[in-house]
Formats: sequence, C-alpha cells, structure tokens
Amino acid sequence: MTDLNLKDHIRQIPDFPKPGILFYDISTLLAHPEAWNAAVRTMAAQIKPKAPDFIAGIESRGFLFGSAIAHELSCGFVMVRKVGKLPGNVISHSYDLEYGSDTLQIAEGLIPKGANVVLCDDLIATGGTAQASVELLRKIGANVVSAEFFIELDGLGGMAKLGVPAHAILNYPA
Ligand code: AMP
Repeated sequence: MTDLNLKDHIRQIPDFPKPGILFYDISTLLAHPEAWNAAVRTMAAQIKPKAPDFIAGIESRGFLFGSAIAHELSCGFVMVRKVGKLPGNVISHSYDLEYGSDTLQIAEGLIPKGANVVLCDDLIATGGTAQASVELLRKIGANVVSAEFFIELDGLGGMAKLGVPAHAILNYPA
C-alpha cells in the first residue's frame, strides 16, 4: 500500500458524456481492491471527527463512496436520489440548472430532525448538485456538518457555494 497513488486509479475520459467534458471515471478505482480500500479509509478518516449520525450519498457514485464510508464508521446511510426513483413518501427539492431545472428527493422519516449528516459524492464541479442536496437535507431538519468529495475540480467555486465545511481528497484543474 506504500506506493499507492490514488490518482493513478482514476481514468480520464475525454468528451464524455458530451464533447468538451473530461470525465473522471472511478470505475478503475472500484476495480482495484487496494486502491478502493485506501480511498474509502482516507475519506472515512477525514469524516470521522465530524461524528456523523448519517452519511447522505448523492446518486449514483455518491452511493458507492457513502455506503462504504458509513459501513467503515458504523453510521447510517441515506440516499439522495433523482426524481421518481424512491418509493413511499419523499421530500423534494428543485434547483436551477444552466438550462432548465432538476429535482432531488429523499425518503421521509429516515433522518430525525437535528441529526448530524455528512453529505458525500464522488466529485464536485460547479457545486450545483451538492448545494441542492444540502438544501434538501436542511429541509428535512438535518444538521449538515460537512460535505466530503473524493475529487474536486478546481476553480469553479463549487465548495464555496455549499454553506458548510467542505473537503476533497484529490484535486484536478477544471
Ligand atoms: P456539479 O453539480 O457541477 O458539481 O456536478 C457534480 C456531479 O456531476 C457529481 O455527481 C459528479 O459525479 C458529476 N460530474 C460532474 N462533472 C464530472 C466530471 N468531469 N467527471 C465525472 N463526474 C462529473
């Protein structure tokens, strides 16, 4: 594990999902047991002092990081999903995109009011998705103690939008 460089396990795919986007693919990280283990442990160590009651993971790669970290820290895990995916009663939050809008949802009744929640995703770019997720969690009365990402794309001001302490393990230029 000593020579492990996590960046060596992130595959960069140009022009996905559309021309001009450089996609940071974590499939290669997930497929490498030592690297994935190191990634989860590093994030869990960063989050542990926040003493979360729950990790909230953003669909879909935030589920992978979030559930592994929640397991490592023995806390609960809750999904923040795209609209129409969750059964039962849900709370919704709509937010503006560059063109149009989108909606995120969370199941009602899983997180008690005042519970400490850490938001988690694989990557933060503009911060729009994470900001909407923080707002959704606040809507249900959660105390969002921090937002944690595996990758931050620099220079987009994503973390500054969130209104909670935020941190990433790896940084790349936007
Ligand atoms: P944003 O709302 O702009 O911060 O975008 C963050 C969300 O989009 C996260 O859920 C990421 O998984 C995904 N995403 C945005 N840009 C990239 C990228 N260049 N490579 C991989 N995922 C991305």
